[in-house]
Amino acid sequence: MNKIVRECISVLYPKRCPICGEIIPINKGSVCKDCYKELPFIDGPRCMCCSKEIASWEEEYCYDCSQKDFNFESGIALWNYSHKMKRSVAYFKYHNRKEYGHYYGEEFVRNYADVIQGLQPDALVPVPIHWTRHISRGYNQATILAKEIGKRMGIPVIEDYLIRNKKTEAQKHLNNKERARNLYKAFSISKKWEKKVDGLKRIVIVDDIYTTGSTINACAKVLKQHGTQEVYFFVLCIGSGY
Ligand SMILES: [Zn+2]
Ligand SMILES: [Zn+2]
Repeated sequence: MNKIVRECISVLYPKRCPICGEIIPINKGSVCKDCYKELPFIDGPRCMCCSKEIASWEEEYCYDCSQKDFNFESGIALWNYSHKMKRSVAYFKYHNRKEYGHYYGEEFVRNYADVIQGLQPDALVPVPIHWTRHISRGYNQATILAKEIGKRMGIPVIEDYLIRNKKTEAQKHLNNKERARNLYKAFSISKKWEKKVDGLKRIVIVDDIYTTGSTINACAKVLKQHGTQEVYFFVLCIGSGY
């Protein structure tokens, strides 16, 4: 593509920083300079189960994981759920900035290609959203993220493997008991895949945010009831469970 065409495209469809949403000039990278410096990578000691940052190298698990017995084995988060990331993910999820997924996937693979390769999953399965939400939003952000990771790593993405049976309430204001009730029977294997689960022994669930792990746990439970032996997860951001 020649320079003039590229410039015309950038005027019509300016590239935005996927973190703060500001327009970035062409050839200035994927993220603006300020945001690049503040990307909240998890680089200290981390929980061996959920990958949340923990206070000391002496500990193996975060408080949450030491208290609970999850249906998944473990997972990876790319960033802490900082104020800036909250904003970025909200735009990705609710304001049609689907293109942010490209950068998220690129960064995920840049940091974790070796871990992903080591896992050798049979498939990536996004956490599904309810079909009514799919119609109003137009897309599932977890599917976009899974596809961005899958295409770079050569791993199939099965977007309709799990379905969401009910429109669950937002989890953040619910206590543990309410969360469990909210998620009870919320997910199932889609009819299409019900009888074909044999090959999928190792699955990675993909989602945007991990807080208490209850959503991913509910998905992992359904997968294991249908023959999957190992379930892992990849998320963009991990926040405190409280
Ligand atoms: Zn920025
Ligand atoms: Zn943990």
